[in-house]
Amino acid sequence: MVLGSLLLAACVAVSGGRARGAVNDRRWNAQTVPTRGPAGAVGDYANGCLEGAAALPAKGRGYRVSQIFRHRFFGHPALIAYIRRLAQTLDRKHLGLLTVGDLAQPRGGPTPTGHRSHQSGLDADLGYTAGSPATAFVVDVAKGRLTPLWNAKVIRRLEVAASDPAVDRVFVNPVIKRELCARLPSGTPWLGRLRPWWGHQDHFHVRLQCPSDSPACQRQKALPVGDGCDQSLDWWFTADARATQEDRQRAIGDAPAAPVLPPRCEEVLRQ
Ligand SMILES: [Zn+2]
Repeated sequence: MVLGSLLLAACVAVSGGRARGAVNDRRWNAQTVPTRGPAGAVGDYANGCLEGAAALPAKGRGYRVSQIFRHRFFGHPALIAYIRRLAQTLDRKHLGLLTVGDLAQPRGGPTPTGHRSHQSGLDADLGYTAGSPATAFVVDVAKGRLTPLWNAKVIRRLEVAASDPAVDRVFVNPVIKRELCARLPSGTPWLGRLRPWWGHQDHFHVRLQCPSDSPACQRQKALPVGDGCDQSLDWWFTADARATQEDRQRAIGDAPAAPVLPPRCEEVLRQ
């Protein structure tokens, strides 16, 4: 349960404005099966849906899905393939079991709890360590520092996860990004894909690029060039960042109306 509640807390943040109306749109959560037919990620990561989803089996080589009851183990087939590929590589390199948290609902779309993103089947929450999820904090957020669970193996797991060519970006706690910037040679190619964000102390969040079979998938703005070890990272440790976080916490639950989902998503619900 601990992993579940933390995933909820942490992943609320990942992008866009708080979509109150959409979050309250329970039609998406009521879907039990994917649509038939070809796969397609529709719309934005935080305002979209998913056609022809694949399900990740509860267990496979090198991974296991936690919180199965949440029924968020669906994704674009590219995401399912990515997780299998990552888990097999971690297994082959003796880097430990991959714990898989939320992917998407059977037809994607907004969830009643937890996330803003994870809507188009291209986002996945994954464990930093191979340890028991309930003890797998690698950052002590209150103290702003790493915990004893952080080690070289975690760095190698992040390297494997972020180096895959299908990956667009990976969200991690700012304390992790700061540590890696201090420790790794500047210009380390995969480091630029690691983006600091609130939460993410017990899991990292992988976001894939729009797959080539998904013309309706809306790309995110390209990442800035470089490894991201610059003033944009320093900001996360300022009073301004703390104030912003407090504002965000206050805003949860009383933000304006939801963005309208792409029209195609209404068809996805009707199928
Ligand atoms: Zn997430």
